[in-house]
Amino acid sequence: MTAHEPVPVDGNALAGPLLFLTTTDATTTVMRCVTCGRTDVMAHARVYATGVGAVARCPGCDAVLVVVVEHPAGTRVAMPGTAWMSSGG
Ligand SMILES: [Zn+2]
Repeated sequence: MTAHEPVPVDGNALAGPLLFLTTTDATTTVMRCVTCGRTDVMAHARVYATGVGAVARCPGCDAVLVVVVEHPAGTRVAMPGTAWMSSGG
């Protein structure tokens, strides 16, 4: 890793931006990766945050699971690498 590479944080960084999607803690949401099939909670994703949003990557294969962008019209969420999400187990 060089000094210019972004440093990821864990999926807990998405708790606030994804609050509008669920009435429960979004970080405990279970997700399945399309690429490798890993099933894990959002909190275990590797999140790269910028000034305009964040990208959550699979901790197993580094595929992009979720993209969150703060837009003047509201928060926009794409889930290109997520097969499904579940509120539990
Ligand atoms: Zn994966």
